[in-house]
Amino acid sequence: MEQSRDLQIQKKKVPHLVILPIPFQGHVNPMLQLANLLHSKGFSITVIHTNFNFPNPSDFPNLRFELIPDGLSDDNKKWTEDPISAVHVLNDSCQESFHDCLSRLISDGPLGPVTCIITDEIFYCTKDVADQLKLPRILLGTSSASLVATMTSFKLLQQNGLLSISDGEPNTLIPEIPPLRVKDIPDIGTADPEIFERLGAETHNAMRSALGYIMNTFDGLESTELAKIRQDIHPMPLFEVGPLYKFSPGSSNSILTQDYSCMAWLDKQAPETVIYISFGSSGSFDKKDMVEIAWGLANSDQPFLWVLRSGSIRGHDSIELPKGFEEKMQERGRIVNWAPQQEVLAHPSVGGFWTHNGWNSTLESICEGVPMLCSPYLWDQNLNARFVSHVWKVGIQLENGFNRSEIELAIRRLMVEIEGKKIRERARDLKENAMHCIEKGGSSCESLETLVDLIMSL
Ligand code: UDP
Repeated sequence: MEQSRDLQIQKKKVPHLVILPIPFQGHVNPMLQLANLLHSKGFSITVIHTNFNFPNPSDFPNLRFELIPDGLSDDNKKWTEDPISAVHVLNDSCQESFHDCLSRLISDGPLGPVTCIITDEIFYCTKDVADQLKLPRILLGTSSASLVATMTSFKLLQQNGLLSISDGEPNTLIPEIPPLRVKDIPDIGTADPEIFERLGAETHNAMRSALGYIMNTFDGLESTELAKIRQDIHPMPLFEVGPLYKFSPGSSNSILTQDYSCMAWLDKQAPETVIYISFGSSGSFDKKDMVEIAWGLANSDQPFLWVLRSGSIRGHDSIELPKGFEEKMQERGRIVNWAPQQEVLAHPSVGGFWTHNGWNSTLESICEGVPMLCSPYLWDQNLNARFVSHVWKVGIQLENGFNRSEIELAIRRLMVEIEGKKIRERARDLKENAMHCIEKGGSSCESLETLVDLIMSL
């Protein structure tokens, strides 16, 4: 059946998809994974990408790239300080160049007429462009179904005055949307709440004429939330095709260069003993936090692999480790600027992931069966961490920022104590669920075939 459909695609003129990612690591990754996956289903793909964070095309031999200007100022390019403003600037400045590039591709592009465009849901300017050029449009959401479902419920309750929380105390539980607390509601990461409201409104509006909504998650993890989205939120077809990276393992979409030298070091460690630490592409902290993290790791007596990105210590261009730390860690610890994270998490010696709970990292950890220590700080990370610790129960949250003795204790709880063993068992079960979903006949695999059928029908 699948084979005959692939043959059908080859016989028909090859459908041509145009893909537009938001140029931040956590958004580029799932979008390029999806692009590669759709290419493997027989589609031709053009990726229109901003010059900001432009990936190396030679890493993606199956995709054709077109470059458009990003319009970001030097300040916006430090997007991690105010990501929402950077998203608005990208939308405001890319609309025209996206329109021009797409018009060129439609009239005399080398891959033939454009069948459909697939864009990040927060690239909301693409709605007007697609409408003007009469092109069908499908959206990719890069966050969890839990975020979409929970935030929609929260907004509705808020609008109808049905929320029982009256104070802003961060640890207060919100009884209407368990197990969330006030502080788990996505933080805006910006000084100006209005621009956050605008993002919500523009994204919502851009959903209106979209043909479908693709999500990087799987039914074996978020079936309740997916059902809720289907029933209450998005009247359009929903395709849960995650975990996307598992459909094309080994292909790196990394914008930063990954340091593979840590893999040989991991080979020398005992099974499930290493804690891997990374706070994603945007995480940054004060020097005093870095010092607490370093000593917490050193004192935990556990082997560790720590991603310490240059630029991740606020106000410091270079990284200066605390005095005495390197002598103490010796061969027990390894620090890299950027790791091949998916391979690291899949390595048998890795037994824990201390993460900021960006959705990609959370999903990758779940799919490799690695228990998490959660230190969220922004946007959807708090909600993801809460689901990790209280719904899926595959991790514990470090609640009070960075303190060396709390870090040491938390690492031991996760890596060596009975509590950690139970968490590990649940993590293994979830990993199995993920693998079933991407097998032939599994929910993500079926969802992908339905998506292919939809595009083929255009
Ligand atoms: N990543 C990586 N090497 C690292 C750290 C992260 O390749 O050293 C990848 C990771 O596998 C994930 C992405 O970067 O796919 C980070 O995305 P996420 O949504 O977790 O966080 P963000 O960077 O968007 O905050």
